[in-house]
Amino acid sequence: MRIRSEIVIAGAGVIGASVAYHLARRGCKDILVIDRASDFGAGSTLKATGGFRAQFDNETEVRLSLLAREKLRAFEDEIGCDSGYRPYGYLFLARNEQELDDLRRTQTMQHACGLTEARMVSPDEARELSPMIEDDALAGGAFCPTDGFIRAGKILRGYADAAKRLGVRFQFDTELRDWSDVDARVKIEARGAWSGAPVVPTRRNAVATVVTDIVAETTPMTVWAGDWYHFRVRDGRVLLLWPDDPLIDDDAWLEEVKRFTRERAPRLLTLPIEESWSGFYEMTPDKHSLLGERNGIYCATGASGHGVMHAPALGHLLAELIVDGRTSIDVSALDPNRF
Ligand SMILES: Cc1cc2nc3c(=O)[nH]c(=O)nc-3n(C[C@H](O)[C@H](O)[C@H](O)COP(=O)(O)OP(=O)(O)OC[C@H]3O[C@@H](n4cnc5c(N)ncnc54)[C@H](O)[C@@H]3O)c2cc1C
Repeated sequence: MRIRSEIVIAGAGVIGASVAYHLARRGCKDILVIDRASDFGAGSTLKATGGFRAQFDNETEVRLSLLAREKLRAFEDEIGCDSGYRPYGYLFLARNEQELDDLRRTQTMQHACGLTEARMVSPDEARELSPMIEDDALAGGAFCPTDGFIRAGKILRGYADAAKRLGVRFQFDTELRDWSDVDARVKIEARGAWSGAPVVPTRRNAVATVVTDIVAETTPMTVWAGDWYHFRVRDGRVLLLWPDDPLIDDDAWLEEVKRFTRERAPRLLTLPIEESWSGFYEMTPDKHSLLGERNGIYCATGASGHGVMHAPALGHLLAELIVDGRTSIDVSALDPNRF
């Protein structure tokens, strides 16, 4: 079956929806988004835990997050619904001087990019911010109060509904097998983990405890910088995560998560685990998105686990590139031809 439209976007996840909306808002017509699933949310987007941060270790992603944050703050006015952005912070923890130095050095770069509110914290201040921490090895941390949380489903539906109001068509049960089956002036790859090389689907697990009141909803995302074991509270439940690499089997993964919890936040172990799920990160070799044109196809994919938080910025910037031929921030580090 041939797929015909002026603009065809493959993938109706949060990024495809954001790209569609931003192109339509810039006046583009005849936009078709295809997806092999029968409705929204079949990919990674609804698996996301909903963290938002600008504390990245490279300038490009700090700037992407600052643009995304501006758009998340304006989401309700622009899109008509709440993005769920709540600035409860991200707290990165160091367990030795080397990790603390790395956080300090990274923060200097973040300040230079304009993230001036990020600050270093002492072990006592870290425990005040996230009272479940009981880690004897704690050396200090980095905290940014404007980082926090977002709602993946609301952002996806918000952009999709706003795009539809501007005339974008979404066609489900339509699998893209090969781009040569598509007749379009503009072709856009947004199939996330299923985009093909150099994007590799990488499985990620998460568990959620029962509802509890021992940890406040406003507790920052609490991340041990050395191994990325982290927890957050969502709808009263504590989510425990550890993006292991390379991936071990599920039982071994859970044992390791429990071991980290016993060592660093043992009171959380009193909470029974009620739910577990897994999904796919859309990893590129350098863990940065692909944004730009490659072999006649525009890419907005490979966000490597940051796709929900960066979707507002990636859609905005790809629309600029397609309509204006250039972007308002430097995204040369995301050039899809770099591999
Ligand atoms: C456990 C977990 C936690 C996460 N936590 C966070 C977080 O805190 N913050 C954050 O920003 N991100 C997080 N992520 C990552 C985030 O979910 C992804 O980066 C994001 O959803 C990618 O969006 P996407 O639109 O590129 O892909 P998807 O949402 O996967 O959408 C891709 C779409 O393409 C469709 N598709 C696939 N193949 C084809 C085909 N051949 N033809 C047509 N359609 C096709 C799929 O059906 C799907 O609808 C997390 C991910 C996981 C798994």
